[in-house]
Amino acid sequence: MTPGKASDQKHAVANLSNLYRIFTVPESPDSTLGRIDQEISQNLNGFLRNHIVATEQDLTIIEQGFSSPRIPEQPTFVSDYTEFLLDTLVAQSVHTAAPGFVGHMTSALPNFMLPLSRIMTALNQNLVKIETSKAFTPMERQVLGMLHALIYGKDDAYYQHWMHDPECALGSFCSGGTLANITALWVARNNLFPADDGFQGIAKEGLYRAFRHYGCEGAVVLISQRGHYSFGKAADLLGIGRDSIIAIPTDADNRIDIGELQATCDRLKEQGIRIISLVGIAGTTETGNVDPLDKLADIAEQQGCHFHVDAAWGGPTLFSETYKPLLKGIERADSVTIDAHKQLYVPMGAGMVLFKNPASLSSIEHHAEYILRKGSKDLGSHTLEGSRPGTAMLVHSALNIIGRKGYELLIDKGIGIARTFAAMIDADADFELITEPELNLLTYRYVPAPLQALLPKLPAGELAAVNRELDALTMQIQKVQRAAGQSFVSRTRLSRPQYDNDTITVFRVVLANPLTTPEILREMLAEQKQIATEDPEAAAIVAGLLESVAED
Ligand SMILES: *Cc1c(COP(=O)(O)O)cnc(C)c1O
Repeated sequence: MTPGKASDQKHAVANLSNLYRIFTVPESPDSTLGRIDQEISQNLNGFLRNHIVATEQDLTIIEQGFSSPRIPEQPTFVSDYTEFLLDTLVAQSVHTAAPGFVGHMTSALPNFMLPLSRIMTALNQNLVKIETSKAFTPMERQVLGMLHALIYGKDDAYYQHWMHDPECALGSFCSGGTLANITALWVARNNLFPADDGFQGIAKEGLYRAFRHYGCEGAVVLISQRGHYSFGKAADLLGIGRDSIIAIPTDADNRIDIGELQATCDRLKEQGIRIISLVGIAGTTETGNVDPLDKLADIAEQQGCHFHVDAAWGGPTLFSETYKPLLKGIERADSVTIDAHKQLYVPMGAGMVLFKNPASLSSIEHHAEYILRKGSKDLGSHTLEGSRPGTAMLVHSALNIIGRKGYELLIDKGIGIARTFAAMIDADADFELITEPELNLLTYRYVPAPLQALLPKLPAGELAAVNRELDALTMQIQKVQRAAGQSFVSRTRLSRPQYDNDTITVFRVVLANPLTTPEILREMLAEQKQIATEDPEAAAIVAGLLESVAED
């Protein structure tokens, strides 16, 4: 069905008075849109539960509803269009707020976010400059100050001095972790090749002349092999190329190997290659592990290079008195990425990068005559993006409405239930815990008990063959479980030291929804076991595996 095109439907008419209505007259409360609007406002969760049918429909079928490239010649009534949205889009979207949706970092939202985001949308402020955002600008600066204080914990006088200083910025608000990481490396690159005698700085003269002027053979970013792919994009954009992201091996706990890192630094020095930034990860995307940030800060100091921490996921762990010691050393970072649309429970499109030194961002400062004049407090002079929405308002709301203590409860609950789930997996002879939860992520796989007992004894060649079968089994279980729609885990591939660094496929679980209970997780395991025995494809793999080990 295409929007509003059923044959018996009246057409809306394109004329100026109707257009004028769209901009001025609200839909009446008893129109379809008005009704849906009220329902959503009153009970978001209930609405989603009743309307999002988790039936797996093939994407090619869904694509048929979105197949025409033609912009409709005639207007469509808003109410007709809304019906189309409900049938074709909403019904086939993903219920990311479901307590059984534990596969990704897209979080459930507190109810207050919906009415508050409407305020934001209605005001439609543009944070690029004060002329289009007024009070939103100081508010965004305060949000950046709040997160800065969470990380760096300076005193009140410090924030009195810097928070609203027009010459500086404590950070840059952006649409997510990717933009935040790119901004951090952009700043680090520009600060590494500043203006000098006979050189106007890399921002003006570019990479080639910067290398020539500073007599440098190349410039790299050092990060563990668990680093997020956004750094590859950053390297590409910054002109150093993706190969200049040097992936340092990790230890058995997915943390950067300090010995390997040190050796790499020594080698780079001999080759005349500069380090744009050393990057530590506070909560890797795949396993949730935290690099030894204090040690990384020491090495960055020795090397005299920028130290960035990617805390897109794990940053809010700092709210927890119990768990914040895991991030010890983050306060020594020159810059830190935090995603608000992950563990700050804000709708998609909110990320930040904070800088220890309020002058750091000057290296990417940009001015234009009609806006962003020098000395103005316009936020646009320190951001990669131009026009930007007032999303900081939602971060401000969440920080105030949930509060430090509220976030502490959320963080503690997430890590607590991850440990409970790990114990559950450990206690079940048919599952193998692959990575323990350090934060609220863990990975595991289904390995039938008799096989699990034999795995450590298998010769290398045979082990790899068994692992490939187990990979196929993990994929099949995940696929069938997702299609059944009760719960969702994601999967990833990890190299594991206990299997000669063989790369295996595992289930990946992210526990950040406070409504996820141990019972839900228990049922999830039971369902996986059931799939392994009852789904014909999965059962065939299991039978084959058990047969092959029985022969030995
Ligand atoms: C999610 C994530 C990112 C990327 O953030 P986006 O908001 O998806 O752009 C970067 N680094 C880490 C560690 C992440 O978990």
